[in-house]
Amino acid sequence: LLGPDGVPAPTVFAEMSALAAATGAINLGQGFPDEDGPAAVLDAAVDAIRQGVNQYPPGRGTPELRAAIAEHQAHWYGLEVDPDREVLVTAGATEALAATLLAFVEPGDEVVTFEPFYDAYGALVRLAGGTHVTVPLTAPDFLPDEATLRAAFSDRTRVVLVNTPHNPTGRVLPREVLATVVELAEQYDALIVTDEVYEHLTFTTPHVPIATLPGAAERTVTISSAGKTFSTTGWKIGWLTATAPLVEAIVSVKQYLTFVNGAPFQPAVAAGLRLPDEVFHGIAQDLSSKHELLADGLRSAGFDVLRPDGGYFVLADTRPLGHEDARDFCLRLPAAAGVVGVPVSAFVRPDHAPGYRSLVRFAFCKRRDVLAEAVNRLAALA
Ligand code: PMP
Ligand code: GLN
Repeated sequence: LLGPDGVPAPTVFAEMSALAAATGAINLGQGFPDEDGPAAVLDAAVDAIRQGVNQYPPGRGTPELRAAIAEHQAHWYGLEVDPDREVLVTAGATEALAATLLAFVEPGDEVVTFEPFYDAYGALVRLAGGTHVTVPLTAPDFLPDEATLRAAFSDRTRVVLVNTPHNPTGRVLPREVLATVVELAEQYDALIVTDEVYEHLTFTTPHVPIATLPGAAERTVTISSAGKTFSTTGWKIGWLTATAPLVEAIVSVKQYLTFVNGAPFQPAVAAGLRLPDEVFHGIAQDLSSKHELLADGLRSAGFDVLRPDGGYFVLADTRPLGHEDARDFCLRLPAAAGVVGVPVSAFVRPDHAPGYRSLVRFAFCKRRDVLAEAVNRLAALA
């Protein structure tokens, strides 16, 4: 977890947010919204604080939130989970990922993920003492090659960690890819861990939770978070659902990581999960139109744009602008155009970086006027 010079290295998101703060550039690097989400969710948190919901909540999460998570899984996906035994509330999706990997991965075990991957995956696999095996998703479609996916599994595979909709490519993994993952997990007796934090933020391709595929639910830990759906990334309320024995094992780790978290935010997230379907569709539509605004602007500025199916981010190739190295490009971008992005090389293993060298990730979870201003500034590059 140390940088190349042996000192603790900040994450690329912290690094690029600091660059934006230092230069006054528009921060399209770190993925967090600059507007509040549904008022009903915010009001419920304020009410909970005023009503004295300010002490340690129950270890697995408040019964109200666990019930709302179970209702959510049944309502949106037809997945039946027992709120008392098969749901765990965590400090964001990050803690759910950490507790799950620490619970199941032993030194020498292999964890398969697609690549690029969210930066925490590589770090958490190392913290657990595991070996990270990656399957590339390459431009322009960012779908895995089936033979490469099959070859990534072995008798040492303990976990396959899937992320859909995918950060940073925005790909919603199709059912056929997920079915191959389930087949391989069964064949090698691996646990499926699925990070679905962008589950409600899809544009036209519907999100398929891998736990809904035949044979998957009994070996799948499904992870999500309120941060993205309700624009409350700072609340750090996440959750996971899995069979009771899997949840037991993960609780045994969570109880010593954070013990519990976010008491007054838990009823607020429960209120959010129970909002009418139209609210969720509205959130996705709003983000979809922001994505159009930024993607069109990037194309006009001369980038090759790789359109996402969902999530917060769009990838842009800098080669048409004469740049081969996106990290170098990102470090110069605040001075050149007053905008910050994140190089996709930060989401891959250093030895695999060449394949992603010219790609930049830009976040569009920002106000329309902010995106319009960023697009104006980027036009200067053309
Ligand atoms: N997984 C993915 C794919 C993410 O993009 C993020 C962060 N934004 C997280 C997990 C972390 O979620 P949380 O803030 O709920 O810990
Ligand atoms: N998930 C957010 C992103 O991908 C950042 C979260 C973080 O800074 N760790 O930008």
